[in-house]
Amino acid sequence: MKEKIVFATNNLHKKEEIAKLLGQKYEVLCLSDLAPAIDIEENGNSFAENASIKSRYVYEQYGLDCFADDSGLEVEALDNEPGIYSARYSGKKDDKANLNLLLERMTDKTNRKARFRTVISLMLGGKNHLFEGQIEGQIRLQAKGDQGFGYDPIFEPLGYDRTFAEMTLEEKNTISHRAIAMQALISFLNNTESLPKNS
Ligand code: IMP
Repeated sequence: MKEKIVFATNNLHKKEEIAKLLGQKYEVLCLSDLAPAIDIEENGNSFAENASIKSRYVYEQYGLDCFADDSGLEVEALDNEPGIYSARYSGKKDDKANLNLLLERMTDKTNRKARFRTVISLMLGGKNHLFEGQIEGQIRLQAKGDQGFGYDPIFEPLGYDRTFAEMTLEEKNTISHRAIAMQALISFLNNTESLPKNS
């Protein structure tokens, strides 16, 4: 029988994507498979803390191995803001308002360096393992492109002359912070012997 593992997300699309990559060994569940409307408060001070809060919660409440991710954009000239506040930088969960506020705060900045980061926390047999992915780039002066979400239209990865929002999902998925962190998690899980349940 396949081991069960929970991806602490409510995003079914994210779950399906990872289930395809872990399906040989694991049955991947998401939060809505455990109970309706689980909402875990992310009140940590870093991506690692927030991801770990989510994975620990599931491990402690349900006794299941679990992984959780937390991501955001760090802009050098803004002291690494918006960071863990990326989803609600403008005070609300509104991608356009967040992006516009960031552009406004960058108006007079010549240093446009930024990076996207993802940290994944995996609780496996009661032990926390962290995986990280980063992609460096720069903040454009104006938004461009209509693919993706969040800050994609203003982020141009290093070595490219297009923003994330001008790339297809497949192309973004070969280089993104999230893809790099997920690949590290997947190779760890696929190469780790399953622990006996009561050890
Ligand atoms: P999450 O932890 O993956 O939910 O990401 C938190 C927030 O960071 C999102 O709501 C976006 O504002 C921003 N973000 C994370 N990853 C990306 C990305 O790949 N493109 C654009 N914005 C992102």
